[in-house]
Amino acid sequence: MGRKRKRIVRTKPIPTLPTVFDCPICGTGKAVHIEIDRKIQVAVIRCGKCKVQATRSIRPIEERVDVFGDWLDELLEGEDDHTDVTDSNSTEPESMTPD
Ligand SMILES: [Zn+2]
Repeated sequence: MGRKRKRIVRTKPIPTLPTVFDCPICGTGKAVHIEIDRKIQVAVIRCGKCKVQATRSIRPIEERVDVFGDWLDELLEGEDDHTDVTDSNSTEPESMTPD
């Protein structure tokens, strides 16, 4: 009886989610800290350099990286400018009259 000893090498990848981020406002690397308060489901984003601060309501599943990503998206979109850019790029030929 051959006792096969399977060596199961389980390398559990420990997800190293970043906890500090580069600041999109002042451009300082790893200056943005995000604190998450799961009890009230709020995340506070803070830059240690330019002191920019933002508070966001989060979903329970969200991690810092998600919060940061959302915040970044908002910044890039321009959060004070909440106009939906519905670019109706439908260039239909109005009337094609075949000869
Ligand atoms: Zn900053």
